[in-house]
Amino acid sequence: MQSSKHARTFSFEFFPPKTPEGMEKLRTTRKQLAQLKPKFFSVTFGAGGSTRDRTLETVLEIQSEGLNAAPHLSCVGSTHGNLREILQQYQKGGIRHIVALRGDLPSGMVDAGEFRYANELVEFIRQETGDHFQIEVAAYPEYHPQARSSQEDLLNFKRKVEAGANSAITQYFYNADAYFNFVEECATLGVTIPIVPGIMPITNFVQLARFSDACGAEIPRWIRLKLQGYGDDLVSIRAFGLDVVTALCDRLLQQGAPGLHFYTLNQAGPASTIWQRLGL
Ligand SMILES: Cc1cc2nc3c(=O)[nH]c(=O)nc-3n(C[C@H](O)[C@H](O)[C@H](O)COP(=O)(O)OP(=O)(O)OC[C@H]3O[C@@H](n4cnc5c(N)ncnc54)[C@H](O)[C@@H]3O)c2cc1C
Repeated sequence: MQSSKHARTFSFEFFPPKTPEGMEKLRTTRKQLAQLKPKFFSVTFGAGGSTRDRTLETVLEIQSEGLNAAPHLSCVGSTHGNLREILQQYQKGGIRHIVALRGDLPSGMVDAGEFRYANELVEFIRQETGDHFQIEVAAYPEYHPQARSSQEDLLNFKRKVEAGANSAITQYFYNADAYFNFVEECATLGVTIPIVPGIMPITNFVQLARFSDACGAEIPRWIRLKLQGYGDDLVSIRAFGLDVVTALCDRLLQQGAPGLHFYTLNQAGPASTIWQRLGL
């Protein structure tokens, strides 16, 4: 068990839209999800700074609506000067919460920049801004795809906590045992910060399989085969996906997970249906 019911944190993740139509759609999504009173809305950041301005614009808009925004910030391909400037912009905009990541170099980009790993970014944020930001970091219950071993990955996660992270959000997973095992192993290492499960609703099998292959999140065989079996029948995929993911969230919360972070892909529907079914 990680923490009491009262300390649970619920949050929703968006990506920064590329077009004015996308921004408008996100406003509608946000309005719906804001009614659920999450602790914060996070906004992703393209590695190498590709979405720098759009991430900033989106978080400032969220913040201006009286909601809490948490920009993601990835350090790969970046310099100290560059990240210092971004942190200053966030501080100026009243942002108090940040998700600190290494990121992945976009294909074709070879210069890794001045940071190698997320623990260096966490350390830099603390050096530059003290306790201004609540810092979230990424955690991988099924281990990071580049991990040399599960033990090294755990120790690397610990480095981020020692560098000053307050809490963590996991990569998505569909196997609750992997999450509870990870939390237990962290506790054995003395790492007791809240580790909030990242939840990916299932709405599209092809897209989910592509994401999962890239990020090392396993789709259990029985789920994969069921989804494959539905073919183009999106209604059945969504109905099955809602059942599976609601049951996963229910188990996670029942067994003490300290909240849930939904990867919304800028859609309100799946996350709010799961929310209602959970009776949150
Ligand atoms: C909640 C969440 C949000 C995300 N948001 C974004 C986003 O907005 N933008 C984006 O581009 N990506 C995002 N990602 C993806 C993330 O950037 C990738 O998974 C990336 O490959 C690793 O980032 P990290 O911060 O976990 O890296 P790290 O913690 O640095 O780990 C990366 C790898 O290096 C190893 N490692 C770590 N530290 C050391 C060290 N000191 N020495 C040796 N090895 C080390 C680890 O074991 C791991 O294998 C997100 C992931 C999650 C889970």
